[in-house]
Amino acid sequence: MLDLTFEPPKPKVISGAKAEWELVIGLEVHAQVASNSKLFSGASTGFGAEPNSHVAFVDAAMPGMLPVINEFCVAQAVRTGLGLKAEINLFSAFDRKNYFYPDLPQGYQISQLYHPIVGEGEVIVDMGPGIARRVRIERIHLEQDAGKSIHDMDPNMSFVDLNRTGVALMEIVSRPDIRGPEEAAAYVGKLRQILRYLGTCDGNMQNGNLRADVNVSICQPGAYEKFRETGDPSFLGTRCEIKNMNSMRFIQAAIEYEARRQIAIVEDGGTVDQETRLYDPDKGETRSMRSKEEAHDYRYFPCPDLLPLEIEQAWVDEIAASLPELPDAKKARFVTEFGLTEYDASVLTAEVESAAYFEAVAQGRDGKAAANWVINELFGRLKKDDRDITDSPVSPAQLGGILDLIAAGDISGKIAKDLFEIVYTEGGDPAEIVAARGMKQVTDLGAIEKAVDEIIAANPAQVEKAKANPKLAGWFVGQVLKATGGKANPQAVNEIVARKLG
Ligand code: ADP
Ligand code: MG
Repeated sequence: MLDLTFEPPKPKVISGAKAEWELVIGLEVHAQVASNSKLFSGASTGFGAEPNSHVAFVDAAMPGMLPVINEFCVAQAVRTGLGLKAEINLFSAFDRKNYFYPDLPQGYQISQLYHPIVGEGEVIVDMGPGIARRVRIERIHLEQDAGKSIHDMDPNMSFVDLNRTGVALMEIVSRPDIRGPEEAAAYVGKLRQILRYLGTCDGNMQNGNLRADVNVSICQPGAYEKFRETGDPSFLGTRCEIKNMNSMRFIQAAIEYEARRQIAIVEDGGTVDQETRLYDPDKGETRSMRSKEEAHDYRYFPCPDLLPLEIEQAWVDEIAASLPELPDAKKARFVTEFGLTEYDASVLTAEVESAAYFEAVAQGRDGKAAANWVINELFGRLKKDDRDITDSPVSPAQLGGILDLIAAGDISGKIAKDLFEIVYTEGGDPAEIVAARGMKQVTDLGAIEKAVDEIIAANPAQVEKAKANPKLAGWFVGQVLKATGGKANPQAVNEIVARKLG
């Protein structure tokens, strides 16, 4: 396998009124575990159901109900850890995080504070060919999601929907290794891609199945390097946490705003207060939600309803053996096996479905040609219709058929595009369409010669000019191609025209 070695990108620098500042960012991503049932109950996790229709007694915190761990959710967390090259903790345990909220009927969230199931790992964040940042993962823990309070349905009452209560979340905590807004978005994008490859989270940000708490601080150039050398966090600035972001665009805008806000405070002689903030996309600013003094005291303690989770290495090994090829490995393989550029390989491996589509087309064919057709023609056409690769009207076999016709010299590149459009809109077997509609490229030299003779006979003035200036021969080639509906083999036309014009 090709080793795509890389340079780290430069940190983003923001010039304040008095000095230059760098950003330090750490993310806590909440990823909903792809599972049909909840973390501690058999209730469905289906999205968009009638409110309060997916609620087991334990989710509603009925007295005396006990949680029962869902083995599949545990396996998904282990799978995620393995995909992030992380340490898997064979011993982990659940804790109660106590707080009152109407959409949390238990009065506490079951989470893992002291003994998370996954320890240290990493995400390689691509920032362009040959440039990438290694972001360290601190931990992943399993926890329950809360329900949803609804305040905008009635002027006098609030409602609560408990369908989401108890759904399994993985909280993926990064080290403060992210150095700019674009990197933060790229980090979320790469994490989402890996989770989707693994099948452990669908990554649907719109539905809130992947959302991030974004921690931002500022420091002077050089301070971050000292923090990395010594591990001493006092080299870093005080951070603010922006809660619950579920859009890449807003994550970037919020970080940018927050960094500038902190710079203004510090340059003014003030200090940044550690606090939790919310981003307002309409105003494009963050505002305080609660300060450190108002921070919740969650009174964590080990959940007495659940035994610690002890898993066996053999089970972890079994899960490890079932991991799919992940994005970086697939990208590297596409570069070596099919001769693609790193850029094309990135585009094709962005989604596991497009990578599979490409491979089916490229198998036994020219990889570069296959990549061009998939990226330029197919993706372009699908985008125009706002369609997904999974419901492409052209199958890999059909696109492969078109490529075979080009490779065999049966059709020109130009006709191939027309053929693609026919297959896209009407379906059918490419070879049969070419035969039935007379689209085959004319390589019959006699027929081409006849067409050339006709054009020459009809344009005596042009012939004189072309004899004086051989560059004008191209005009004849164009005329012949036009007259034959683009079916004449261009190379043959070129040769015959050149010969006839002497
Ligand atoms: P706590 O224990 O208070 O939850 P953590 O050390 O676990 O704090 O950090 C929570 C998140 O904040 C992590 O994602 C971490 O990377 C990030 N973080 C910590 N310090 C900073 C900082 N100075 N600037 C930006 N992000 C930070
Ligand atoms: Mg923490």
